[in-house]
Amino acid sequence: MSRARLLAFGAVLAATVVLAVLGYVSLRQWQASAELLFREQSRDMVAMAAEKVEMAILKAEEESLSSLQMLAMEPVLRSEALDEWRRKYPVFEGLTLIDRQGHVLYPSGAAPPGLVREIPDSFWDRGGRRHLLVGDQVVLAAVIPGAGGPVLALLGRDVEAVKRDVLARTLGGLEGPSVLAVLDARGDLLYVSRPIEQATRVLTVAFGEALPTWRVALYQPPGIAASGGVKRQAMLFMTAFALLLVVIALGLIATYRLLRRETEMARLKSDFVANVSHDLKTPLSLIRMFGETLELGRVPDEATRREYYAVITRESERLTRLIDNVLDFSRIEGGRQRYDIAAHPVEPVIHEVLDAFRYPLAQRAFKLDVAVASDLPDTLMDPEAIKQALANLVDNALKYSTDRRRLTLEARREGSWVVIEVADEGIGIPAAELERIFEKFYRIGRSETQGTRGSGVGLALVKHIAEAHGGRVSAQSRPGEGSRFSLYLPVAGGE
Ligand code: ADP
Repeated sequence: MSRARLLAFGAVLAATVVLAVLGYVSLRQWQASAELLFREQSRDMVAMAAEKVEMAILKAEEESLSSLQMLAMEPVLRSEALDEWRRKYPVFEGLTLIDRQGHVLYPSGAAPPGLVREIPDSFWDRGGRRHLLVGDQVVLAAVIPGAGGPVLALLGRDVEAVKRDVLARTLGGLEGPSVLAVLDARGDLLYVSRPIEQATRVLTVAFGEALPTWRVALYQPPGIAASGGVKRQAMLFMTAFALLLVVIALGLIATYRLLRRETEMARLKSDFVANVSHDLKTPLSLIRMFGETLELGRVPDEATRREYYAVITRESERLTRLIDNVLDFSRIEGGRQRYDIAAHPVEPVIHEVLDAFRYPLAQRAFKLDVAVASDLPDTLMDPEAIKQALANLVDNALKYSTDRRRLTLEARREGSWVVIEVADEGIGIPAAELERIFEKFYRIGRSETQGTRGSGVGLALVKHIAEAHGGRVSAQSRPGEGSRFSLYLPVAGGE
């Protein structure tokens, strides 16, 4: 292959590789930024949900504390009223009211919790609220004004009530495929907005001060997940891209093969020209040599003269055959070849061909076997074309035989076919080449054939002729043992 072609190939290949790399990189980047965006959006959503829960808790605290304050402002703290309050605000559990001296005002008779000692004076003075952590329980501590001075209210939380009244209410209405869950301090699931089954946790966000130990988590069901969507799209792109690359690769391969064929064809053609010229030259120089000798009158006896005339005739016949081959071949190539097909007997054709080869056969001491079946029907043929085909087969048998020189010509009927076979005991053809020898310009590149010149169109012509007659040609051969070519022609008026 030429340098320019190799360069062109290299360029296409390089462009493809660059395209592949660019495509891959940008796809990756796109995927990464899409995932990032998705994570950011998810985080925003979860943060918002966390804020909502926090607000709900704070609001509940606000409400309950103000109603508690009303009770505390009453001149006498009524236990029943406080019991009633507790029933009204089930989110809170274990209400304890303590005065500044550390006496438990409610529930009456209870010992002051250890927590009280941790309340600094400033808190008593300033009032307000804070969330304290007792173990993993959140306790709301608030100093509220009471009838007899400030009162410290400690409010525990009922987790079940929080789940039911706060989490379910705020997170339950979530739309879309995502699932929100709340995890406790140990990371266990406290609440899920919907069964999560095989959903995977995408991210978690902490609550604010009101729920210091819990976290909100976002779960994505498999497949429906937005990041899954990104992945699917990326996969789709990737597949399309891979397909594109495959198409380019196939195109390259196809072009490469085409170019190789073309190069091969060009080589075969130039061989063909060289071979044909050589083939033309040999008989021409023989004719000229013998002609000149005869012209000069240098041949004394009649027998030798006859022999020389015969050589000239034989060589001109060979020349004619060769030129016919080339002309027919070019006509076939140009689609201009016409055959005049009609019913004809086979035997005369065979004998005419043998007659033409009588001299070279005798000269090279070929043993000839001819077996034409007696009841052979007429076949549909153009006798000139069939003669040419057979001449090519016989010529090959002669050309490609070395020590064992035996030519067999047989003709018999096989169903609706007449088969004419030309067999030799020559050098034979390797099995791998049997199909290719019928290709135009194809010659087996072996040392044995190197010496024998040929155009490489003979068998291509035979094949074309056979097929133009509605028949076919096939070859059987064993290297070193010989070859047998069978020409099938349709019986005239065949059944
Ligand atoms: P060529 O002009 O080279 O003989 P053909 O088309 O007639 O061209 O044959 C193609 C090739 O097939 C030959 O080059 C030869 O290698 C091989 N071939 C044809 N006939 C025979 C045969 N009878 N024995 C061995 N090889 C053969």
